[in-house]
Amino acid sequence: MKALVVDLGGSHAACAVVDEARVLDRRSVPLESARGLAGALPALAAALRAAAADAGVPPSGCAGLALGFCGLVDPVAGRVLSTNAKYDDAPSLDLAGWCREAFSLPFRVENDARLALLGERAAGAARGCDDVVMMTLGTGVGGVAMVEGRLLRGKHFQAGVLGGHLVAAFDGRRCTCGARGCVEAEASTWALPRVAREWPGFAGSALARAERLDFEAVFSLAESGDAVAMAVRDRCLDVWAAGAVAMVHAWDPEVLVVGGGVARRRDDVLPAIEARVRGEAWTPWGKVDVRAAALGEDAALHGAVPLLQGA
Ligand SMILES: [Zn+2]
Repeated sequence: MKALVVDLGGSHAACAVVDEARVLDRRSVPLESARGLAGALPALAAALRAAAADAGVPPSGCAGLALGFCGLVDPVAGRVLSTNAKYDDAPSLDLAGWCREAFSLPFRVENDARLALLGERAAGAARGCDDVVMMTLGTGVGGVAMVEGRLLRGKHFQAGVLGGHLVAAFDGRRCTCGARGCVEAEASTWALPRVAREWPGFAGSALARAERLDFEAVFSLAESGDAVAMAVRDRCLDVWAAGAVAMVHAWDPEVLVVGGGVARRRDDVLPAIEARVRGEAWTPWGKVDVRAAALGEDAALHGAVPLLQGA
């Protein structure tokens, strides 16, 4: 089976043609999420047509078009339900109608983190596993679940997809979702500048003079012995580890896949999460296997075929 797929990120969209095993051709389309999705649809359609032409696959030879969206979606109705300060016009759009007009193909939309889990299960770190939690550490924190071979979705399609909004600190920082002390409000790329600047001694730390206040700076300066960078790093690792334990308790996985841009520093991130999950999670059946994501930014693209097959 071949499929068209769009993975919509905050600053760009990946538009690709895929089959069960491979990304046959992919294009990157720069976007500004603040300007909405409607105006970007012609560019996405053009990129998909160009990718299809280069892959030698006519769109009519594809089983459908899958869209990974960074928000809450209704995959049954094919609509975006709610956004979080990105592509805020999306709930008002008839995306299935756009797909029908542009390509005469069936359309499926799914949350981008769920699509990435489907991809890691089809072709990556969770191949062959039916009970998987995937945690994504990046601009925000993703936490999605597959239980007994099915994506957990729930009555309002928000079950098993808000792991980054599990609470790590009940009296913590205000989150974009409306709650307080969520994992991503306490430790994510968007939250990091505030977390660091509020740390005692920040002004005297090398972090205060870093060109970019991101996790690359935190991990590098921590390695060189900067006390504030070390403390901020350890705090964030603790928050992620607490989130991972909560997700294990909530969703009973056999495998926990850790991905996202921050997790590319695998040796800095994975051992702390693994140690805490092994030491603290209540799993009398055995130990959860903590694995690094294998597909990087292509994970969601690999999720298109299983989504269109009915996952
Ligand atoms: Zn939140």
